[in-house]
Amino acid sequence: MQDLLALDGVDLASVAAREGTPLHLYSATAIRQRIDGLQSALQGVDATICYAVKANGNHAILQLMAKSGVGADIVSAGELRRALRAGIAPSKIVFSGVGKREDEIAQALEAGIARFNVESRAELDLLQRLAHARGVVAHAAVRINPDVDAGTHAKISTGKSENKFGVAVAEARQWFTAQAQWPAVRLDGLHMHIGSQILELEPIRRALQRLARFWRELALAGHAIASIDVGGGLGVRYRQGERAIDAADYVAAIRDALAGFDGRIVLEPGRYLVAEAGLLLARVLHAKQGSERTFLVVDAAMNDLLRPSLYDAWHDIVRVGDDNGRTTTTYDVVGPVCETGDTFAVARGLPRCEAGDLLAILATGAYGASMASTYNSRPLAAEVLVEHGRYAVVRRRQTLDEMLAGEQAATHWETA
Ligand SMILES: *Cc1c(COP(=O)(O)O)cnc(C)c1O
Repeated sequence: MQDLLALDGVDLASVAAREGTPLHLYSATAIRQRIDGLQSALQGVDATICYAVKANGNHAILQLMAKSGVGADIVSAGELRRALRAGIAPSKIVFSGVGKREDEIAQALEAGIARFNVESRAELDLLQRLAHARGVVAHAAVRINPDVDAGTHAKISTGKSENKFGVAVAEARQWFTAQAQWPAVRLDGLHMHIGSQILELEPIRRALQRLARFWRELALAGHAIASIDVGGGLGVRYRQGERAIDAADYVAAIRDALAGFDGRIVLEPGRYLVAEAGLLLARVLHAKQGSERTFLVVDAAMNDLLRPSLYDAWHDIVRVGDDNGRTTTTYDVVGPVCETGDTFAVARGLPRCEAGDLLAILATGAYGASMASTYNSRPLAAEVLVEHGRYAVVRRRQTLDEMLAGEQAATHWETA
């Protein structure tokens, strides 16, 4: 692998020395390139990109989205707050998720978001009740479960009939037929999201075709469909040799499947926009020679980046600096957390490393910091946005006091 010294013009060794490790970095330029690429591919299409906030909801990232005209796909009241605070217009916010709480729906109605992606009859009833009580009409899309295998990891597959997400076409058909039951809900959209980290167009095509077939059926039956939301899921390159789907090919597949549709197309990319723009810097604490393996113990852990533990996900790892003359050594790269699963890489070839060396774990911009926890009482890492040789801290490193705030002795006993 090529020597890695800088990200978006910022020297990695210097920023690590100044801000400490573990440290999440995101390149604003790389994120903008992804947005621009997708927006260019969508030229001439009536489309809204609603960035999936859960991929990385950092305020500065969301501001960058807002400034580029990108909306938000939210899954909680917390994400609604984040999107609004970053200046994303409510008219560009869609609300997804299988378990929206009453107070969350109420907040979204009060904010006047564009659309609810409804996943169950109970949710439809609740939306009716809450919209009616406020004297408003909520726009809703039915999330269809197209029953296709996205060909991705089981834990990030969402479009098979056994998954908890969406409803079968037969059920959705009933909702459209019985629409008058929900006068405070305008059911005029279709939605799907079949999974994440999809690297082949084929499952996407198949799902789009099923969605399109249903749209045509509804249109023939006289139901006006104003919006078709094709979800997210576009995969990214996590390891050398992997190839992400080209934005132009993806958009061509959408245009092809939805030819003749004259409403709005919504896209909900998360990972695609931010994953490859990010990296996680970690410092080597020491190399530990086990009886069978050599462990490289670093100061980042599964609480900073959960994907390897949760999904057996691969992230390329490089030693920051000049590798000249270093022999390649095989390491298990592990964090300090008391779990065997706290492992970033197994039997990975790296230039020989020693204590104090800096490693970059690549493509961590999505589902990195946003999935972080304080497990093992490790404060949340700092995050920085870098751009053209400068960087800004966009999340301070959490202090121990901040981490402990909210906990207290059991002095106020109540009965319930
Ligand atoms: C998670 C999610 C997305 C984004 O998925 P990516 O794989 O990050 O693109 C989009 N839509 C819905 C409904 C989701 O749950």
